[in-house]
Amino acid sequence: MTNREHERAIDLITRRGAEEIAAPDTAWLEPHLATCDECAEYAALTNSTGRILRSVAITASPALVATTQARLRARATYLHEQRARMVLIAISFCIGAMSSALSAWLWWRFGGWVARHVGLSSAIVEPGILLFLLLPAVVIAGLLLAFPHPIFEGSLMLGLAGEHEGEKR
Ligand SMILES: [Zn+2]
Repeated sequence: MTNREHERAIDLITRRGAEEIAAPDTAWLEPHLATCDECAEYAALTNSTGRILRSVAITASPALVATTQARLRARATYLHEQRARMVLIAISFCIGAMSSALSAWLWWRFGGWVARHVGLSSAIVEPGILLFLLLPAVVIAGLLLAFPHPIFEGSLMLGLAGEHEGEKR
């Protein structure tokens, strides 16, 4: 057998994995492989390599799908938390405004009476309204300082995020 025959056989074996081989070429290759150990070995190696590559491709796809899904879930959770944060800020603002109005109203209504009973001058009542407008904000700021992240960013955020997810379902 000539070197050219082996080269032709190697070329056909290599191409066989990737493309359709003409019938006359296949007819020529089969008897060559039957008589040439070297080329037969190369053909076997090429076949098993092709099998391994195909099986890797099959097992890689679900892994890739899982990774992609996990990334999408993480992104969705992040967006939910962002939205929950905005809702929490809005709620905090409303609570702050309402409690400011309420405490100022209470002082305006009962401040004079309290001042009289405690023995303060009634001149303190009017500036006192300003103090009671600011008082809830001071209390909320104090609470935020005392319990910073765990309460306001942890469970509450997740709770709001979960609630939002629940609404959609
Ligand atoms: Zn050969």
